[in-house]
Amino acid sequence: MIFYKTREEIERIRISSLLVGKTLAEVAKSIKPGVSTLDLDKVAEEFIKDHGAVPGFLGYGGFPNSLCTSVNEAVVHGIPNNKPLVNGDIVSIDCGVLLDEFYGDSAYTFEVGEVSKEVKKLLDVTKECLNLAIEQSCSGNRIGDIGYAVQNHAESNGYGVVRELVGHGLGRSLHEKPEVPNYGRRGRGHKMKPGLVLAIEPMINLGTKNVVQLSDGWTIVTKDKKPSAHFEHDVAIMQGKAEVLSSFEEIEKVLNNKS
Ligand code: MG
Ligand code: MG
Repeated sequence: MIFYKTREEIERIRISSLLVGKTLAEVAKSIKPGVSTLDLDKVAEEFIKDHGAVPGFLGYGGFPNSLCTSVNEAVVHGIPNNKPLVNGDIVSIDCGVLLDEFYGDSAYTFEVGEVSKEVKKLLDVTKECLNLAIEQSCSGNRIGDIGYAVQNHAESNGYGVVRELVGHGLGRSLHEKPEVPNYGRRGRGHKMKPGLVLAIEPMINLGTKNVVQLSDGWTIVTKDKKPSAHFEHDVAIMQGKAEVLSSFEEIEKVLNNKS
């Protein structure tokens, strides 16, 4: 069952999504070599609670923390731990909040210190994939148009597109229908209509598309151990252009101040 949202519900999802962006910006201030992902998780949990919201991932399906922190070859669903980040790492920080009955869900992959040119390009292309996906997200288009846009751009840069994990509908539940794969064929899949809210989240690997799950039961890593990048926005399907409900603006303000 697909839930289409009213204007009022979309505005509530926007507020949740923007709180996720502000949380990621707060976390961004602390990201540097020597800091652990568990330290970052504490920052996020406190910030979310201070803003009257509930960490959306904490306890979700038994997940132990408020953030998914996925370092280097980890794609998604990494569990925060005590290991210090080191110069040259990348870390995907995925965050969800529940506020006023609606979820927000957004992710950003951060550089720790100075990363290689090769990895910087992976981050740029993954973000471009997300933007191309958002361009395809409009009433009358199909879910396959989104997947095609991501896959085509990633693969034409020589990267692997993860198949096992996908974007999703978003609302009163963190994961709603439909699934939003990052691969696909134009003109195929569910036809989008106004009121549909999607979390679009390309997961792009520097190497092959293949992934495996670690024995912790959560962390997904690339099979070839090469780095993977992940960015996620929440969008509302409208007549014409999608409305992006989440924002990287606060995050990028922090990053620009750092550099
Ligand atoms: Mg997410
Ligand atoms: Mg998501």
